Amino acid sequence: MDDCVFCMIADGKIPAQKVYEDEKVIAFKDLSPQAPVHVLIIPKKHIQSVAKLQSEDKDLVSHIFVDVAPKLAKDLGVDDGGFRLVINTGEDGGQTVNHLHVHLLGGRKMTWPPG
Ligand code: 5GP
Ligand code: ZN
Repeated sequence: MDDCVFCMIADGKIPAQKVYEDEKVIAFKDLSPQAPVHVLIIPKKHIQSVAKLQSEDKDLVSHIFVDVAPKLAKDLGVDDGGFRLVINTGEDGGQTVNHLHVHLLGGRKMTWPPG
């Protein structure tokens, strides 16, 4: 997607502070961090949101949650203390960038309910 900011980051067309990359996924620091640790994990493939996932994306989703998120939490030092994974979906869900992304937040005590 030419006009998608996260596709541009995945393609290296705009800079980001990368913390992880493999053939399917990239993770980078959020521009406006809401916690001491705040990174975004995205598929390199453009998928608009959770609502647009297809059966063919099962391996990708499992890769993000089984392999990448726990590894990143460990590498970023928040696995023991705990962390939060957030996927805002659609307008009411608070999604502002229409390329699927998982927020990984940690390094402070989270509150509930979210705003
Ligand atoms: P959403 O509100 O869609 O769940 O989250 C989008 C996130 O992307 C926000 O936390 C915002 O700070 C972050 N963001 C938006 N544009 C950029 C960008 O160009 N670079 C980086 N690193 N983060 C961005
Ligand atoms: Zn995209």
